[in-house]
Amino acid sequence: MKTEIVTIFPDFFKGPLDYGITRRAQEMGLAQIAVHDLREFTHDRHHTVDDRPFGGGEGMVLKPEPLFECLESLGVAPREERFSRTAPESVILLSAQGQRFTQKVAAELASLDRVVLLCGRYEGVDERVTDFLADRELSIGDYVLSGGELAAAVIVEAVMRLLPGAVGNEASTRQESFTVDTNLRAANAADSTCGSEGLLDYPHYTRPAEYRGMGVPEALMSGNHEEIRKWRRQQALRKTLRNRPDLLQGAALSKEDEKFVAGFKLAEQNARNRG
Ligand code: SAM
Repeated sequence: MKTEIVTIFPDFFKGPLDYGITRRAQEMGLAQIAVHDLREFTHDRHHTVDDRPFGGGEGMVLKPEPLFECLESLGVAPREERFSRTAPESVILLSAQGQRFTQKVAAELASLDRVVLLCGRYEGVDERVTDFLADRELSIGDYVLSGGELAAAVIVEAVMRLLPGAVGNEASTRQESFTVDTNLRAANAADSTCGSEGLLDYPHYTRPAEYRGMGVPEALMSGNHEEIRKWRRQQALRKTLRNRPDLLQGAALSKEDEKFVAGFKLAEQNARNRG
């Protein structure tokens, strides 16, 4: 898979993408990352990439010409082909106004041959880039960054770890928070240790078994696989109910899970009534 990043700060990416799984994926030839300096696609002496907004107002706006010319030089498929998904590539504009980047979107992008990430700056990017060049706008969260570079690095890291072979133990990515694994669901989640199935991950512990008076839950020390599976599943449900109850709507719940959720909600309600 090839990722092309278009930015006015190419040096920004010298550090973040050179570690861990992202580095390994590149070394193993699973992924290629190319960073393109937008200023190289300008034609004036000052390599101008921005200009004042029509209609007045604050700040500067990234001009359309360098972005269109950069993409032309990369031989990216026409927008209609990308839209209809006949071309296995996507051109993404990073934007606070974009659709939310999620694990599901990361999995979609990991199945493509090429992803182009356009990093905005200043007040943003000329809207013709959104309307006629990019096929989608993505946001990494409801806050405003100064540029798209950090957002691009976040997307690259989330996508790379989903490339087959990038993570040593692939089962671990199938069971992570937010992940819905249809194979796992079909194979009966009861066989897995937990299988996130759209929930948050269960808690993890390692040695020492006792640290400063803080122990490890007994179920995990029991050696009983069924007991461990049940404990992990319940903890994943508990964490999701506490931190991200919105995720439960899309999660695959067994009868046993539903019973646990009902019991948890009742206990919370009783505690509220008592308080
Ligand atoms: N005026 C814009 C607004 O209010 O939505 C904010 C522009 S921001 C200062 C500059 C650039 O940072 C954007 O063009 C975008 O590329 C990037 N950016 C900012 N927040 C982002 C987010 N949450 N996700 C992705 N990119 C973001």
